[in-house]
Amino acid sequence: MDTKKNKDKCGLNHCLVKDFSAGKYADLQFANPDKIKKIQTQLFLQHLEYTLGQSSFYKDLYTRKKIDLARIQSIDDIGLLPLTHKEDLLNTNDLLCTDKKEIVDICLTSATSSATPTLIPQTSSDLSRLAYNEELAFSMTGINETDTILVCAALDRCFMAGMAYFLGGTKLSATMVRAGSGSPAQHWELIKLTKATVIVGVPSLMYKIGQYGRQNHGDPKDCGVKRLIAIGEPTKDETLRLLPIARELETMWKAKIYSTYASSEMATTFCECEARSGGHTRPELIIVEILGDDDQPVKPGEKGEIVVTPLGITGMPLIRFKTGDISYMIQEKCPCKRTSPRLAPVLGRKNQMLKYKGTTIFPNAVLAALEGDKRFYNGYIEAKKNSDGTDRIILYTALAQEDEPDTWIREVLQAKLRVVPEIRLITRQEADKKVYQFDKKRKRMTFFDLRKKDFLRMNRR
Ligand SMILES: [Zn+2]
Repeated sequence: MDTKKNKDKCGLNHCLVKDFSAGKYADLQFANPDKIKKIQTQLFLQHLEYTLGQSSFYKDLYTRKKIDLARIQSIDDIGLLPLTHKEDLLNTNDLLCTDKKEIVDICLTSATSSATPTLIPQTSSDLSRLAYNEELAFSMTGINETDTILVCAALDRCFMAGMAYFLGGTKLSATMVRAGSGSPAQHWELIKLTKATVIVGVPSLMYKIGQYGRQNHGDPKDCGVKRLIAIGEPTKDETLRLLPIARELETMWKAKIYSTYASSEMATTFCECEARSGGHTRPELIIVEILGDDDQPVKPGEKGEIVVTPLGITGMPLIRFKTGDISYMIQEKCPCKRTSPRLAPVLGRKNQMLKYKGTTIFPNAVLAALEGDKRFYNGYIEAKKNSDGTDRIILYTALAQEDEPDTWIREVLQAKLRVVPEIRLITRQEADKKVYQFDKKRKRMTFFDLRKKDFLRMNRR
């Protein structure tokens, strides 16, 4: 990286993507790969220069690892740079790249995947970037200024998602309904009152809202909702086929469901276009790599860990952040003619990957096989270690009709997963108590990993 040359080329010192207007990069998503690479390289080098100029964490890391920045000439050289781990984010001060007075908002990551939430300070430029990103994501699904968007994601408690949707929707000039994390009854009433045409929320919540409507002399089909933007929970399997819950939601609401993938750390959304064939990445906002267990790039189309370098962030920029999520990049061209790379559905968390009877399986996939089936009510997975070191998977499940037979569970899992874990039936009350123990209104807790505990116990003997 030649700092001086880079500065001359863009004409600005530390110029990042500060002009977050849809027009500036509008054509880039349809551009040929060479042009995308050229623009990304430009933005990446600026990002690197800015981050290394300000962040004591990266300055120390690169000095310690003896990184020769002269070798970084384009995005193809990104692999020469060290990776950033989730634990590295715990010391926000070392990562912060601006004065305290530039910070206008503080986000916290949800603490479901780690004990300590991460603090993410944002500048006003970061909020503009967030709005730009969500505006693009919404408009890619066909949402426009005539839509009324019900956001069933928390706008408070320092969560990023709800705020990002609100900012993006207002930037698009759609009408925003800040429903937040209310009850299904409140959401249902708001949908009717505001004539919402789009719902943004967790699939299981969208299902509960519809169910509430049906139980209260209404029919979700008649509400006029055209699009469901699914967040936080999977809606597709690895071949991009809709999961039963997603199919049920489409029928229930007579609407189209779109998958999204995002996290607070990357502050960027991957959203499907109208072809619904994987989440498009925006080249001006993020560089995505898929790495194998050895932290080297996998072959095109192979599965691995998603590693991201979000571009244009000024508060707490990151370089090569390991998300811990597993997916793959889709190779086929998208019918929408965008040339920007597409990410397949997230198959699960790397640390949740289970080895079972010779197959790799994610807890998500087990529950997804049952969700949407009317006979299934709720459930969760427990992973343990057998004394021989192999994984043991126990599915705790509650049935919609507790006195009905349960043999179908085994049949469905066998057909969809080809392996059947241990199955234990529990009551609906027991299932709800476990699944919603931490947060009644946000994400369900459906995976309890006791493998480490078992390993420690076995080795203490
Ligand atoms: Zn597309």
